[in-house]
Amino acid sequence: MYSIDLSGKKAVVFGVANHRSIAWAIARILHEAGAGIAIAYQNERLRGGVAKLVEPWGDTMLVECDVSSDENVAVAFEKIGEAFGSIDIIVHSIAFANRDDLGGKFMLTEREGFRLALDISAYSLVSIARHASPLMIENGGSIITLTFQAANRVFPGYNIMGTAKAALENEVRQLASDFGEDNVRVNAISAGPLDTLSSRVISDYRDMKRIHAERSPMKRNITAEEVAKTALYLCSDLSSGVTGEIIHVDTGYSIMGI
Ligand code: NAD
Repeated sequence: MYSIDLSGKKAVVFGVANHRSIAWAIARILHEAGAGIAIAYQNERLRGGVAKLVEPWGDTMLVECDVSSDENVAVAFEKIGEAFGSIDIIVHSIAFANRDDLGGKFMLTEREGFRLALDISAYSLVSIARHASPLMIENGGSIITLTFQAANRVFPGYNIMGTAKAALENEVRQLASDFGEDNVRVNAISAGPLDTLSSRVISDYRDMKRIHAERSPMKRNITAEEVAKTALYLCSDLSSGVTGEIIHVDTGYSIMGI
């Protein structure tokens, strides 16, 4: 428990698949800080697991939202608007690419795999921000997303997801500009490797994680809780002057040249 008080704030968290999801660590810390939480999960298959996770919290809003369609996003925000009235915090913790596009030569990425990865992993933030906008601009708020250093540098195996993260980071700056005068801040956390459903399908993930621990200044990997703590800062008034930023939570790995 940290001494940041988010009571009275309402947060929508996208991207909880299971207890390992980064979104779950963030949802937990926001809940502990007193925020009301709605969890937007991808599909019916995940609903039971997500419901079990939030069971100890009592009544928590669960809303299905596959972000591959704008209509789904619109319907989800309609339901959230009816329940919450307004929203203070959005957590976007979503990514997807075909397994075949997360390994081998990047040049072999085909048009459909490229489209799919960019659509789900990058465009979804634009769609979510647009549909959340009417519920956020009156009181201001914070939107955060999750990125990875492969946006800027080559991580073999990360392939098309690096391209998607580069697009996502650009969106963070453009959305921060769009929303600036409404006092809605938009930032990203660039996290180091963490064992989750998504990272497991990256072909060189194990090496990536080992090398990260060996070469980062702090000589270890990060924890999901460390990402959540930075999310808490970005969602709170402590970061009131921060927008359009990509904050690294990576035990310093990204600063090293060799
Ligand atoms: P995860 O698999 O737990 O989360 C990914 C989420 O995306 C899942 O909840 C999944 O349901 C959701 N999703 C995928 N397609 C969707 C769709 N069409 N509609 C709605 N939701 C959809 O894995 P994670 O590692 O917690 O990933 C969360 C975010 O963190 C991703 O953006 C990922 O790229 C980023 N990230 C992860 C790491 C890592 O090492 N795990 C490092 C840096 C950044």
